[in-house]
Amino acid sequence: MFNDASMVDFCSLYAVFFDQENPCKCIKSWKNRTFMKPSTQGECLIMNTCRLNKTRSFRVYLYSLVLLFFIASPVVSAAGMDFSAETPDMGLFPIARSEATFDEILSATEKHNTGMNDTIDPALLLSRYVQIPSVTGQEKEAGEFLAQFCREQGLHVHVFTDEEDSYNFTASLYPLEDGKPNIVLLTHLDVVPPGEPEGWTYPAFSGKIADGMVWGRGAIDNKAMGVMQVLALRQFVDQAAREDLPYNVSLLAVSGEETGGDTGARIIADQYLDELNPVVVYGEGGAGLTGIIGAHPDRPVFGLGVAQKRRLWMALESTVEASGHASVPRQNYPTREVVKATNDLLDAKPQISIEPVVEQALGQMAEYEGLFRRRLMKNIHLTAPLFSRFLRADPLVISMFTNTLSLTSLNSSDGAYNQIPTRARAVFDCRLLPGTDEEQFLNHVRKIIDPYEVDVEVIASSPASPVSPQGPYYRAMEQSILSVYGGVSVVPFMFVAINDNRFFRRNGIPAYGLLPVLMTEELMESIHYFDERMPVDELEKGIDVYVALINQLLAE
Ligand SMILES: [Zn+2]
Repeated sequence: MFNDASMVDFCSLYAVFFDQENPCKCIKSWKNRTFMKPSTQGECLIMNTCRLNKTRSFRVYLYSLVLLFFIASPVVSAAGMDFSAETPDMGLFPIARSEATFDEILSATEKHNTGMNDTIDPALLLSRYVQIPSVTGQEKEAGEFLAQFCREQGLHVHVFTDEEDSYNFTASLYPLEDGKPNIVLLTHLDVVPPGEPEGWTYPAFSGKIADGMVWGRGAIDNKAMGVMQVLALRQFVDQAAREDLPYNVSLLAVSGEETGGDTGARIIADQYLDELNPVVVYGEGGAGLTGIIGAHPDRPVFGLGVAQKRRLWMALESTVEASGHASVPRQNYPTREVVKATNDLLDAKPQISIEPVVEQALGQMAEYEGLFRRRLMKNIHLTAPLFSRFLRADPLVISMFTNTLSLTSLNSSDGAYNQIPTRARAVFDCRLLPGTDEEQFLNHVRKIIDPYEVDVEVIASSPASPVSPQGPYYRAMEQSILSVYGGVSVVPFMFVAINDNRFFRRNGIPAYGLLPVLMTEELMESIHYFDERMPVDELEKGIDVYVALINQLLAE
């Protein structure tokens, strides 16, 4: 959790750097905040910072991005909540699950008309889909539901793996065997656990439709996206049957995204990539948010993910030979060496580095800022070092500008309390910017720990994941957003955590991350938390974006 001192620093920064607002006012609003969920660091960061009204432009942009990482970051987001299985209260279901048939969904015509021959109510489909609990490890039932729905729409369904905890399939305009270059719309079937039932206004798996929204775990992350993609894709079934289109378009629904993708996207990328034959992947990532551009807070900004940091787990291992009685401490012994080396590493100031993606996003948003801020943001290379003290004061902001490391484990060999342990070890979770070479980073680490008798060992490292180009596939999504939402900004952005897009990027396939809807801070906060809910009108706009996207790509 932030301490007040760092918040004061940051408020001053925003007063000076971006908002020229009286910092005292900002500090006051910070102090007056009601802490809704002060249970873990991650939650506090979200809950306490997203409401710094008016002094937020750049900060909220970065925070919004970080919020989006929580979609993809199971470890962080699950912290502090009791995610023991909840038995949903069946009584509050809008329609009992056993009675919800495709016929009902198909005939629910009361308000929706999303396109050609469309008689499907997206809200009802999402509601039904949410009602099938699919916490990671139990994806099959939800997967079979979605696959069956796709079959009934005339899509060609191909099931890659058919396990309770690893159900992965495509639903395509043409059979995969046709070998057409494939435009892939990626979604995940799994959801994070719902947490304590008392936290929910409606039961987590009720799929309740109320107040113009669909409520429940997965309503945003990621079942809304799956529904948008399927309902867009089905509108091209007739055209695909009539014409020999240059591309296939597939929904790819995978398991296990919330726990790292091993039971889903990793399997597809490792074993079925040739069969899938993707030319581009559109998966999870940013979304549209307002309140980001200081001079035009009402102008929505859509962050279209093109890059992400990579993960590196490394250990410091003692190399000194020492043991004996603790009453006669030696100069060097394992725990001491590891602790001292760890200390130096944690104290080292990582160099600020402006990734091209971050620079470009700031540059684009700067166009709508006042003169002062425009200059600062457009010259971030020059201005960032001047304000580095302020940037460093905030862990979330600085994570966009530096490689980071967190000490996640510290232990020594067992023994009595009066014995010098023979071994000690510290483990770090490091996140490297796309432009950082892993070996260079490790050399830098070795230099810092050189005075001590410790070795660096790489436990695991994710392969480099190239930044996806802002070429025709990027522009197609950008144009689709603009065609549906009008006067908005679409900017490229970088994840600091990981999601399934990386499995494709590292195989040379461009992948773009965006939930194509306009969200509010309140809705963003509900992701991976209580009362997750999706506005029905945004659900419909999301379908329109995907329809526009497919139309554009097929026309090229
Ligand atoms: Zn997700």
